[in-house]
Amino acid sequence: MTTPSAGSATFDWTALPPGLHQRRFGDEEVGFEAWIWQGQPGPALVVNGATHGDEYEGPTLLRHWVGSWQPDDLRGTVLFIPVLNEGAFAATARCHPVDGTDLARTFPGRVDGTVTERLAHLFDSAVLARATHYIDLHSGGHALALYPWVGYIGDDPNVAPIQRAMAACFDQFWCWSGPFLPGRSMSAAFARQIPAIYVECFGAGGVRKQDLAALDRGLRHLFNEIGCLDGPAPTLAPQPHYQSTEAEETHLQVHHPAPHAGTLEPKVDLGDRVDGGSQLGLIWPTHDGPPTPVWAETEGTVVLRRHPRSVQAGDSLFVVVPI
Ligand SMILES: [Zn+2]
Repeated sequence: MTTPSAGSATFDWTALPPGLHQRRFGDEEVGFEAWIWQGQPGPALVVNGATHGDEYEGPTLLRHWVGSWQPDDLRGTVLFIPVLNEGAFAATARCHPVDGTDLARTFPGRVDGTVTERLAHLFDSAVLARATHYIDLHSGGHALALYPWVGYIGDDPNVAPIQRAMAACFDQFWCWSGPFLPGRSMSAAFARQIPAIYVECFGAGGVRKQDLAALDRGLRHLFNEIGCLDGPAPTLAPQPHYQSTEAEETHLQVHHPAPHAGTLEPKVDLGDRVDGGSQLGLIWPTHDGPPTPVWAETEGTVVLRRHPRSVQAGDSLFVVVPI
């Protein structure tokens, strides 16, 4: 069993000489590439993509920045990890193929655990432990199409207002906040009292140009907001905000489950407003029999739709949120 090298666990990425540095944390089996810009003393911002290996917006955006960003007035340290979960990414899968474990349910991980548990531990102990602000870039992956949002968890009075301000920077997305949930990278940040947000882009196995532009705009706003860069306060667009009080509501995998296997025929698009009880789609049985309608549990906006049209009983098909 391989454990993270002592070097990566003790390496202080906030104390590098000024300039851009590429460093690997961990080893070949459990590790990731990071690009670190060191400026004058200031905040320590961490941004990563591909916590799930089938989400490509974060990796694409961050590689663009790595290849082009040359700030001459940076305050603080900025650390980008385009692909956090390299094993899952190589397998074009949500989870690492060796243990099939969801990294976003594994934090803070274990030093002597499975591949995914060790990856969570490495990120938490070697990277997050030194951060002052954190962003985790997600999307719908292969299985889901999302009406993109920015979110955060927890109601710590010292942290939540900062998270709200960070989320507001991503003003092309609506905002969804909710109660604490265990296992997420957000949970590890919460435990360390580090203001943290996540972004959920469209997904569906691809990368939309408008999502990259919206992420890019949000990141530039956030650099000003947290003091990494000087500049006028950004002019932000108004952002719809919905606060869930029930953790169950934010579990995307439990809403509008397919009643049986078959073919999904959606009747609504992402962003559509629907009434409670209105028809969201039909499930056509694979062999014979009439289609089964799927009715909206509540009124609101359709923010999630299953992407593959082949469905199994219990698959989450839609999420409707009252925004
Ligand atoms: Zn994800």
